[in-house]
Amino acid sequence: MAPRDDLNTFLDRIGAGRLELGSGDVLESINPATGARQGRIRAVTRREYDARVNAALERFDEWRMRPAPKRGELVRRLGDLLREHKESLGELVSLETGKIRAEGLGEVQEMIDICDFAVGLSRQLHGLTIASERPRHRLMEQWHPLGAVGIVTAFNFPVAVWSWNAALAAVCGDVCVWKPSPLTPLCSAAVQAVCDRVAREHGAEGVFALVPGGADVGAWISDDRRLPLVSFTGSTAVGRQVAARVASRLGRSILELGGNNGVIVLDDADVDLAVRAITFGGVGTAGQRCTSTRRLFVQRGVAGTLIDRLVAAYGTVRIGDPLEPGVLMGPLITRAAVERFTAAVTAARGQGGEVRYGGRVLDRPGNFVEPTIVLAPRHEEFSIAAEETFAPILYVFEVADLDEALRAHNAVAQGLSSAIFTDSMRAAEQFVSPGGSDCGIANVNAGTSGAEIGGAFGGEKDTGGGRESGSDAWKAYMRRQTSTVNWGRDLPLAQGIQFA
Ligand code: NAD
Repeated sequence: MAPRDDLNTFLDRIGAGRLELGSGDVLESINPATGARQGRIRAVTRREYDARVNAALERFDEWRMRPAPKRGELVRRLGDLLREHKESLGELVSLETGKIRAEGLGEVQEMIDICDFAVGLSRQLHGLTIASERPRHRLMEQWHPLGAVGIVTAFNFPVAVWSWNAALAAVCGDVCVWKPSPLTPLCSAAVQAVCDRVAREHGAEGVFALVPGGADVGAWISDDRRLPLVSFTGSTAVGRQVAARVASRLGRSILELGGNNGVIVLDDADVDLAVRAITFGGVGTAGQRCTSTRRLFVQRGVAGTLIDRLVAAYGTVRIGDPLEPGVLMGPLITRAAVERFTAAVTAARGQGGEVRYGGRVLDRPGNFVEPTIVLAPRHEEFSIAAEETFAPILYVFEVADLDEALRAHNAVAQGLSSAIFTDSMRAAEQFVSPGGSDCGIANVNAGTSGAEIGGAFGGEKDTGGGRESGSDAWKAYMRRQTSTVNWGRDLPLAQGIQFA
């Protein structure tokens, strides 16, 4: 898509026809690189929300009985259409989030990858057969579709996070009701257009439903007993509210919340690797990934070299229009995000931090700030580093050894992604051992940012404990049923009980 194409042109091109969105509040799409309005959609009203959930449930009755490999065919088609429209959708992601082009395209690639994974999975949804203690009995465990899944997503991965949920849910036999971030309305409308087309082609209208809106629609989903599972991706503060509301109706939730990710660099590390990984982790997506690198623990012997190299690397980062070739860092999402950046830098200075690079807001249209490196005093005296500020700020701590680094690393409330750079096998193994990193993701000589879809993705503690995407994350989208089949002519009871 030419960057300034509007949504309708894009929708026409993908043959989506007219989208049925809502008739509620206007959700404005603002380009964070310019501040310009670039389109709008309408949120759903409560009545429209209810109608969409009911239509999804109607579809569920039929969808759950289709063989899973047949459901996989729909997801394969979804992946194919995403391949076809990768450029357009990737650029739309850049226009709405401010991600650079390569990252916008990467996000769509992630959608394609999860579709491929889900298609394979559609022939591999498997249970267990367990040895029964009773003669001529079979004991087995099966996985059945769960129902309608509520999906609430954050602005920073406006399309990929939905696909992690929806591709798995669809092959598992569920239907999806998606509330995207109100900051990225066009991305969600474009994805829904693709979904509508795929669903029509497969006689499966209602499998993927969109319910645009803000916190009110999110709250409807949290409280809706028709949705046995809610997958929520967003901040810890909002996730806490969602989790409590879903739990109060005994629903299940998958929580993918904030991170505060740390990298440990030991004296024996390959500094070239570490510099590249930390720069991508700290600066990429303007520090607006849940896996962005925010804290660096560097051993004294290598600290001077590493910090000088990082400062030099940060100095080469071109900031600007995310769709311009050569630009590596775009804007923050909103003016409020810029204010949070400024407040964090001020707090860091107030707590004894020294800004070694960046720290300023750029004087130009759009929400641009400088990537920032702050040399921090001891971890326990620097409370600002305990918070996730969604901006490109890296706090650097010098440490004596791995034990001190691990204690400081694990001392925050969040537990998403972590990394160590070392050539020591012992140190690397300690880092990934039960006594090492307490995060859901722990990498060795690879940064905190940029996970592959094949592994389960998610984190511990205030990150919420949820797992999405690969491995056995699909099990969260299904209900487990244990069945005993007696094919004999007696009725022996378990535990040897005799009854009459
Ligand atoms: P946010 O919490 O402000 O919003 C997330 C979603 O929740 C949006 O759709 C929003 O409209 C909705 N919402 C707001 N109030 C609600 C309420 N009361 N009930 C239900 N829904 C409500 O987050 P954001 O600013 O869009 O995204 C950034 C945050 O998301 C960061 O903390 C980041 O770490 C986190 N995140 C986590 C992951 C992960 O996989 N762990 C991935 C991406 C983003």
